[in-house]
Amino acid sequence: MSEARTVLTGQDAVVIIGAGQAGFQAAASLRDEGFAGRITLIGDEPYLPYQRPPLSKTYLAGSLDEEGLTLRPASFFERNSIELLMGDTAVAIDRDKQEVKLASGRLVGYAHLILATGTRPRPLVAEGADLAGVHILRTKDDADALRPCLGDGSRVAVIGGGFIGMEFAAVAADAGHEVVVIEGLARIMARSVSPELSEYVTAAHRGRGTRMLLGSGVQRLTGDAGRVTGVVLADGETAAADVVLVGIGVLPNAELARDAGLEVANGIAVDGSLLTADPRISAIGDCANYPSAHDSGRPTRLESVQNAVDHARHVAARLTGGSYAAYQKVPWFWTHQLGLNVQIAGIGSADDDCVLRKDPAGEKFSIYRFQSQRLVCVESVNQPGAHMLARRMLAGEVRPSPAQVADPGSDLKALLTPAV
Ligand code: FAD
Ligand code: NAP
Repeated sequence: MSEARTVLTGQDAVVIIGAGQAGFQAAASLRDEGFAGRITLIGDEPYLPYQRPPLSKTYLAGSLDEEGLTLRPASFFERNSIELLMGDTAVAIDRDKQEVKLASGRLVGYAHLILATGTRPRPLVAEGADLAGVHILRTKDDADALRPCLGDGSRVAVIGGGFIGMEFAAVAADAGHEVVVIEGLARIMARSVSPELSEYVTAAHRGRGTRMLLGSGVQRLTGDAGRVTGVVLADGETAAADVVLVGIGVLPNAELARDAGLEVANGIAVDGSLLTADPRISAIGDCANYPSAHDSGRPTRLESVQNAVDHARHVAARLTGGSYAAYQKVPWFWTHQLGLNVQIAGIGSADDDCVLRKDPAGEKFSIYRFQSQRLVCVESVNQPGAHMLARRMLAGEVRPSPAQVADPGSDLKALLTPAV
């Protein structure tokens, strides 16, 4: 058995760096799989592991409290003997000694190390980006700083029309603010969704009164007495603002891995089973760049809860059962904006052929995206049934053709359950 196929015993210790969605799940899944050894979860945030999606939705809007954010209460970690080292930062990995050094000076030894360090917001490089009133949104602390700005009638500018920007714009518009979205590209959420879906969601925001400035660069931010007053666009126009949210993408937290001599390229490079070139170190979640079976085997770094959770489960199963199979899960994610439930299964590309399938009853539809006639991605709006079906179709080989999708009378579900 090669080292890469090592199965841990009850005498071994697993150390997990990063106590976010992926790190938490790795600890929980190791126990679910029966691992009886020591588990140490290291997180630099001072809170019990929590989920991020509500930070730009219900928590921000005030309809979910702090307890609702937390993934599990403290008693869960005690009951499962998961040692939590919160509010401490891993600063170095000694791969020869199999040891992690923390900012507090503490040293923690490992038989296997799981890197789940996530990502951090890409900083806006522009004059005025450090003025008071300019916010980012990644952590609970960020959301707590933003919450008091909502509902006070201030003018809101959002820089970046990605998921964060559009979800925040929706919450701010719902709270009665005058909102402007400034996106550098010609359409919103361009990295993740089809042009057709971008257009539909843009129209929904415009319908709510939000100004959508697409293809607009940011020159600088203006301020008065240290507080932001507006955003000057590349064309010289100024959008007045009392609050600015910057959501222009993220950077993987991969420096720790790089400094330890591991390969880093748009995240921590891992193989199909999420193992680095060091057989004692895996990387999972937002920080991991892995060859995805759902993206033609290309190195792929996904930023979603499903990805974090399924990566963690895969590594826990590998470490406890020894199965060295490649990770195969269908990627999926969601966004909630202005009452729209948008769910996406699979990975699309800019040159996909799109086929619309609409439910005649109300605003419910799905966009099926094909590459060379093969279904690769389905985007559903207010159609959770179609989304669940899409995940099943993308997990297997039986997939509808563009003609079958385009035919409103065809029963796509029947394709998966052929008559006997
Ligand atoms: P993270 O959750 O970022 O956790 C990594 C943790 O590691 C962080 O706490 C970080 O501080 C810590 N860390 C980093 N370096 C060190 C170190 N050296 N020592 C100790 N600790 C360290 N996804 C969806 O699928 N649907 C959504 O609706 C959705 N909404 C989102 C809304 C917001 C506002 C944000 C910010 C993200 C959202 N996401 C959503 C994305 C999703 O939350 C992430 O993909 C997911 O959290 C990734 O989990 P992770 O564990 O890989 O990284
Ligand atoms: P994102 O989805 O990558 O979107 C960032 C957007 O900002 C991109 O369209 C980007 O365009 C644009 N941009 C970059 N620089 C800009 C500039 N100077 N001026 C104007 N626009 C600029 O990232 P995000 O919205 O910041 O989200 C951060 C993370 O949170 C991601 O991991 C995301 O997946 C996650 N998140 C997920 C959800 C969800 O799944 N529902 C919700 C919220 C957050 P370019 O492509 O040209 O750079």
